[in-house]
Formats: sequence, structure tokens, C-alpha cells
Amino acid sequence: MVTPAPQADVLIIGAGIAGCAAAYHAARRGRRVVVIDAGIDCASTVPTALINPVRGYLARHSPDDVAGARASFALIDVLRAAGHPVVSGRGLWRPVPDVEQRDIWAAQLPGHIAHSWTEGHTLEAVLRGPWVATLYLPDSGWVETASLLHALRSESQAEFVTGEVVGVDAQRRSVLLGAGVRVAARELLWCGGAFGAARIAGDARFRPGSVLECEERLHPDAVSYGLYSAPHGAGSVVGPSTEAQYANYPPAWDAEGPEARLVERARKVFRQALTVRSIWRGVRLESATLPEGLTDLGRFGSRGYLLAPRAAALWAERL
Ligand SMILES: Cc1cc2nc3c(=O)[nH]c(=O)nc-3n(C[C@H](O)[C@H](O)[C@H](O)COP(=O)(O)OP(=O)(O)OC[C@H]3O[C@@H](n4cnc5c(N)ncnc54)[C@H](O)[C@@H]3O)c2cc1C
Repeated sequence: MVTPAPQADVLIIGAGIAGCAAAYHAARRGRRVVVIDAGIDCASTVPTALINPVRGYLARHSPDDVAGARASFALIDVLRAAGHPVVSGRGLWRPVPDVEQRDIWAAQLPGHIAHSWTEGHTLEAVLRGPWVATLYLPDSGWVETASLLHALRSESQAEFVTGEVVGVDAQRRSVLLGAGVRVAARELLWCGGAFGAARIAGDARFRPGSVLECEERLHPDAVSYGLYSAPHGAGSVVGPSTEAQYANYPPAWDAEGPEARLVERARKVFRQALTVRSIWRGVRLESATLPEGLTDLGRFGSRGYLLAPRAAALWAERL
């Protein structure tokens, strides 16, 4: 049967960062939105996420990454101005181990990406080591994800329904819930992340990962050197663990314990005792071919908080 209940213009499957940002942007365009979420394996619950367009040892970045960071922070500013206590900060430090690395980064960073160099041991207190310099990126930063998701949900005024979608009709206008109930809408958007792709895509690739929640506040800003640290509550998060890609879902967690290796690596990099309060585990969706005709936002890999808010705004412009 087709439920008369949620009177949706837009039906979104998945309430991670992609689904919540899409609900927010659709609602701002006057659409009535219903979001259905099974409450399973939401990668978006990573405790604190970096929003950083300059990534890796090669300082890779793309125009989409840079525009994504701008859009994410602009959204955070708007939500804060509306009274939502989104916990976030700007500024990210990257220690430079040697002149060669410094030259690579200097060559990679064009004029339109704001950055500055500090010679010497600015990060001595947090990352003791023989650094030749630190690179500071004022337009990168971090966000405590629960505060952002909460603000988006609340500002969207969408109807959030708990349930698992087990099928999508051929016209991509309605979905079937586990209980045999069909929900229809004028527009349907799939934001199902890793779990969703495992259900509807044959060729999906996944990458699991862990993040430590530590009691120590390692630095007031985000720091990225192989591992990242960023503020979380009164302490910090440190991560992520290094994991392989898998075709299976859920991916097999390394029996040796990825977290044990992560703790060891974190202690080496930060050269201080870390009190691990808890360990968060999640699964990123790296790639997937979704059924033809299904509009989706996803496949953000490790960059959901960098890319999803802008992708959602661009999608909503076409409504
Ligand atoms: C260890 C780790 C560290 C990370 N660090 C960062 C970082 O620093 N910065 C950053 O930007 N990103 C980071 N990410 C990536 C980021 O978390 C993801 O890119 C992002 O969360 C993906 O969001 P999403 O909304 O697409 O999917 P998800 O967050 O997975 O949400 C999908 C939702 O859809 C629901 N769903 C799926 N299928 C169905 C169905 N059939 N019916 C109903 N509901 C369904 C699920 O319950 C889930 O809530 C990290 C990820 C990991 C694993």
C-alpha cells in the first residue's frame, strides 16, 4: 500500500551528513521533507571530523575540495547565527619534517588557498620532533559532528522516520519499508552511505576505520600529520586507523586489532601518554554503482563533511 501519512515533496533515505544537509537545503527551498533512516552504521557519527581540502603527504586538493570547505564552514556560520551551538573551529596545523616536504607543499599550494609558514618548533608542545616548519591552513578546521547533524535536523523541520528501506520502485518515486509499507514523494534522494550501498549496489567498495577519543586536549586547533587530532569535548580525537578497502560488507575487521596499532602510532606521533576513553568505528563508502535513475548523494569516502554540504546545496538548486 502507499502510505498517505508523510506528505513529502522530497523523500530522503539516510540521515547522515548527506541526508541531513539535503533535508536542510530542500526545506530552505520550501519543500516538505521526510527522511527515513534505519539507524545502522552511520559513518557520519565520527565524533569530530576534519574539514580540510589540503590532504595527504602530497597536499593534494581540487577546486571541489576547496569549494566544499567554504560551503561547509559557511553552513556552520549560518546555523550558529540562527542560534544552534555547532561546535567547530577553524585552523589546521601541519608539521613539516624536512625541507624536501616543505618544497613539495609550497609548490602544491596555489595563491587562492590561504596558508602561512612558521619556521621552527611551533608545535613543540603537541608534536615534539625535529620539524623544520609548520604549515598553517586558516580555512581548514574541524566540527563536532553530533552538533552539526542536530542543527541540520532541527533547522530543516523535516519529518524523521525510523525504518529500513528494502526496495525502490522502477520510477524512483517511492520506497518500500520493511513492514511492507510504501512511501511516495515527488522527489526521491538516496543518501544511504555504506550500509545503503551494500543493499542496492553490487560493486560497492568499503573502507572501515577507527578513531580514538582521548581525555587529553592535544591542541586547540586541528593537527594533521599522518594521523589527525582535533578537539572533542574537553579532550581530543585521534585517528583514523589505516585499513584496506573491501568489497564485502561489513568489512572484516583486522583480527590483530586495528585500534591497538592506532594507539601505538598515536603515542609515537604525539609522544605523550594518551588516555583512551573510547574507540569509535565506522565504515566509509569508497565507490558504488547505484541503480539507474536513482538520484543519490554519497561515495564521499573520507570527505563527507568536506563535500556533502555543498553537494546537497547544488542538488537542492535543481529541485
Ligand atoms: C574512521 C573514519 C574517519 C572519518 N573522518 C572524516 C573526517 O575527518 N572528515 C570528513 O569529512 N569525513 C570523515 N569520514 C567520512 C565521513 O564520515 C563520511 O564520508 C560520511 O559520514 C558519509 O556520510 P553519508 O551521509 O553519505 O553516509 P552515512 O553517514 O553512512 O549515513 C547513511 C545513513 O543511511 C542510512 N541507511 C542506509 N541504508 C538505508 C536503508 N536501506 N534504509 C534506511 N536507512 C538507510 C543509515 O542508517 C545511515 O544512517 C570518516 C569516516 C571514517 C570511517
